[in-house]
Amino acid sequence: MSAAEYIPERPTLPRLREAAQGCRGCELWKGATQAVVSEGPRKARIMLVGEMPGDREDREGRPFVGPAGRELDRALEAAGIDRGDVYVTNAVKHFKFEERGKRRIHQTPRKGEVDACFPWLDTEIKLVRPEALVTLGATAAKALLGSSFRLTRHRGELLDSELAPIVAATIHPSAIVRQRDAEAREAERDALAAELRAVAKAVKAR
Ligand code: SF4
Repeated sequence: MSAAEYIPERPTLPRLREAAQGCRGCELWKGATQAVVSEGPRKARIMLVGEMPGDREDREGRPFVGPAGRELDRALEAAGIDRGDVYVTNAVKHFKFEERGKRRIHQTPRKGEVDACFPWLDTEIKLVRPEALVTLGATAAKALLGSSFRLTRHRGELLDSELAPIVAATIHPSAIVRQRDAEAREAERDALAAELRAVAKAVKAR
């Protein structure tokens, strides 16, 4: 199964966002409220790719609006990047979760689900053609940089890739939320902001 057959013939970002609502490329649409494709201008110089929408994103239909989104906003601000100038999307467009009582607990998408969803992301990259592409978290990194890519080894490096002139991989901002204490959270916040700042600097230098 794949999302390929659901991609509009002459894709534009608004058409993609609309068409994704009808995607049946894998099973994830069944439990989710809606597909969450992206936010940001087509001419964005920087594209950020996360894993998939979370609980809040699924309800609101916008990427990175929950707790991880707040961390992302904070990191972007610290890096001197205006979120309105950035194209923000996810590797998987429907929320995968497990119900525990009234709570919906995030579940990591399987490789087959990430692969099935890839045509959406691939089309987005072709439409936006960002100068810098940054993957947030291991799922997005593996989706775009290959399953052998090790985030722990290459985090924050400027990578050689055909995806965009500048490519980097860093943590998903939800990793900050999950840190055990305030000190560890602060350290991850600083590291993420520094990595985004380095990307912004590389974009400005072009
Ligand atoms: S997760 Fe992706 S491939 Fe699966 S149904 Fe949703 S949009 Fe289609």
